[in-house]
Amino acid sequence: MTASFYDVIVIGGGPAGLAAAISAHDEGAKVLLLEREARLGGILKQCIHDGFGLLRFGEKLSGPEYAERFIDELRARQIEARTLTFVTKIDRPDDGAFCVHAVDRGGVWTVTAKALVLATGCRERTAKQVSIHGTRPAGVFTAGTAQHFTNLLGLMPTRRCVILGSGDIGLIMARRLTLEGAEVLGVYEVKPTPSGLTRNLHQCLYDYDIPLYLSHTVTRVFGADRLEGVEIAEVDDRMRPIPGTERRVDCDALILSVGLIPENELAESLGVRLDGRTRGPVCDNDCMTSVDGVFCCGNALHVNDLVDYVSQNGEQAGRAAARYAPHARTLVELQPSDDLLCLVPQTLDLTGGKDPLTVYFRSRGEENACTLEITVDGRAVFSKKYAFLRPPEMEQLTLQTADWGLTGQSVVRFELKRQKEVRT
Ligand SMILES: Cc1cc2nc3c(=O)[nH]c(=O)nc-3n(C[C@H](O)[C@H](O)[C@H](O)COP(=O)(O)OP(=O)(O)OC[C@H]3O[C@@H](n4cnc5c(N)ncnc54)[C@H](O)[C@@H]3O)c2cc1C
Repeated sequence: MTASFYDVIVIGGGPAGLAAAISAHDEGAKVLLLEREARLGGILKQCIHDGFGLLRFGEKLSGPEYAERFIDELRARQIEARTLTFVTKIDRPDDGAFCVHAVDRGGVWTVTAKALVLATGCRERTAKQVSIHGTRPAGVFTAGTAQHFTNLLGLMPTRRCVILGSGDIGLIMARRLTLEGAEVLGVYEVKPTPSGLTRNLHQCLYDYDIPLYLSHTVTRVFGADRLEGVEIAEVDDRMRPIPGTERRVDCDALILSVGLIPENELAESLGVRLDGRTRGPVCDNDCMTSVDGVFCCGNALHVNDLVDYVSQNGEQAGRAAARYAPHARTLVELQPSDDLLCLVPQTLDLTGGKDPLTVYFRSRGEENACTLEITVDGRAVFSKKYAFLRPPEMEQLTLQTADWGLTGQSVVRFELKRQKEVRT
């Protein structure tokens, strides 16, 4: 390590952290990037399918190819990055600089910084977080673990499997395992609508004749040492299994794709306020969390479907962290209506510059012909029509807020209106 004090320390070397480190450096900051794994790139290292970078580069790159473009930029700038370095704790004695405690092969050490960017990604929900009866045989994997085995270790985790949950990783693994010669008996989704992107449904399931069963779940696993089968049941409109609909499917693996949760132990230990909708930190338009000097981006902030948005968000956080100087913020809350599953950022700092405000949102349900309306103290300041909105597909909007007449007391509301309800 070349120093013990940095302007910005970035934790996490996935696409969010890489973009944050590069943009903080370009703003003139002395930057250190810390990554717990042996190589930079985050989850992209195991995503060998293509489809990354369509928005940013206008090309269909694989995950490793997309990551490599940023790793090359990082190296060209000679930004200091330490791999195999796990950040275990952060504290801030006397409200001064942040002390980042890390462990690597050399032992435990501490380094300090004026600002932090948390880019720690997200983790998969596991079997413990869904209700499945039975024993605990080998053969129950999260989709990401199955992907790790197949794509990085060259090991087949299954020959005949069932996938629970229609999230994108599960869909991608359905195709991947089929291409590797496994039999994917079906993808079972408890909700009445799929959870993955439309393009993944087509490219990963329908093109390979893999059946998708909506309103179905796995209620039981069978097997002692190794999984031998699962029990499937239909569910009612409250997602409760319907008695009498159970059937057994013989298989050697159950692959879970039942959701992702931002990884926020470090943020929580710093007392960062979390958003119940995104499960990530509440942040302002500069990606600064409720704790001054702590910024967050990428999947640690909220689960993204496109890496292009992750990089954009990382750049924003890195830039803001490099410019960070303690100041009293005047925060206006951006309030989503119940129709919105999430809205990021959750606050707007009026003391900041006049940069446009970039927001990301998802609808709670499937919507056709609707309008997003933004009001300030009940006065409409912006509206945009959407032919359709689906919860798996995150929307991004760039807004000019200068003429919204915002004050510290303003109530800013984001609301979805079915088209017949829209004001004229
Ligand atoms: C299976 C799958 C398929 C996808 N397919 C597509 C696609 O086709 N197109 C697309 O655009 N997007 C796709 N995505 C989404 C995109 O890849 C992710 O949104 C993006 O990689 C998230 O980036 P991130 O940097 O926030 O997190 P990550 O890539 O998860 O990086 C976080 C990093 O932080 C490190 N870290 C965490 N905690 C610590 C700590 N305490 N100390 C040190 N390091 C730490 C982790 O090791 C990790 O390297 C896919 C995602 C998955 C999982």
